[in-house]
Amino acid sequence: MTLYLVIPCYNEEAVLPETSRRLAEKLTALTAAGKISADSRVLFVDDGSKDRTWALISECHRADRRFGGVKLSRNRGHQNALLAGLMTAKERCDAAISLDADLQDDLDAIDRMVDAFHEGYDIVYGVRSSRETDTFFKRTTAQGFYKFMKLMGVDIVYNHADFRLMSRRALEGLSGYEEVNLFLRGIVPLIGYPSTTVEYERHERFAGESKYPLKKMLAFAFDGITSFSVKPIRWVTGLGFLIFLASILALLYILVVKLLGFTVAGWAATTASIWMLGGLQLLCLGIIGEYVGKIYTEVKARPRYFIEALELTPEEPEETAENQAE
Ligand code: UDP
Ligand code: MG
Repeated sequence: MTLYLVIPCYNEEAVLPETSRRLAEKLTALTAAGKISADSRVLFVDDGSKDRTWALISECHRADRRFGGVKLSRNRGHQNALLAGLMTAKERCDAAISLDADLQDDLDAIDRMVDAFHEGYDIVYGVRSSRETDTFFKRTTAQGFYKFMKLMGVDIVYNHADFRLMSRRALEGLSGYEEVNLFLRGIVPLIGYPSTTVEYERHERFAGESKYPLKKMLAFAFDGITSFSVKPIRWVTGLGFLIFLASILALLYILVVKLLGFTVAGWAATTASIWMLGGLQLLCLGIIGEYVGKIYTEVKARPRYFIEALELTPEEPEETAENQAE
């Protein structure tokens, strides 16, 4: 079985030497154990880094052909970089595992993912068993996010980020999703096929700093909700309906009051309702505009990435006999 480890890297020069060393060890161990074939690869995706990331990847590739690299033409963000890597791996592997360059995801979970693949699972989700290494803030916001997504009716795996194994046919399924607002952990459960989870401890980032500042995290969460759920629109519709009913009742009341001949100095009520309705309308327009914006970007169907360079040695000819035996 040919395994590809797909690793998006954005300005990761601080972690790459150590990461590639540990991944080489992992590949060697898995190959020796007969779990994966010798044409398995580590595929780094350079997401338009501004530092020496691509130079380091090329160096890795020259020193050891089990390392490959894809260079994107500019920074396209984590999800797009991941997709570029997975789609590059798709034709070349039996299964691909995506993980972060900082190795926060436990490498030993890879063994268990590969075992699950051999048992016949197409998708294996890496699920965090605890969030002790996170700051209080990240922990609560992340858990709130998962709960909120469930509430919105989006099917996502609790405490699963982007550490997962996907078989070739699952990857082919993924390639059919042509949306531009990529939120992979929402799309993958939609593909289906037999799937299971593997628990792991998440470590601290061992060098460099997080490439996901709060701003990017919030944008990502917001994308996740609006790309997968139409519930906000339903809520707006429901709210509009309720206000409409209320306004009919109010109209009846006003008519009755007028016919009975009470003149009310209704300044307070009038101004209050103008402000309230104005605010509500703005809010609703804003939410609807959010979706119109999404339609706009989807309709344009812009390409999501371009591969600028590819350094990858797909097969080792002398090993093919052994691969056949696998
Ligand atoms: N990453 C990327 N493009 C970006 C931002 C991040 O490819 O624009 C990669 C990054 O190199 C890392 C992974 O996405 O391999 C996760 O990022 P990070 O570890 O900084 O996020 P955190 O673990 O702090 O959430
Ligand atoms: Mg990280």
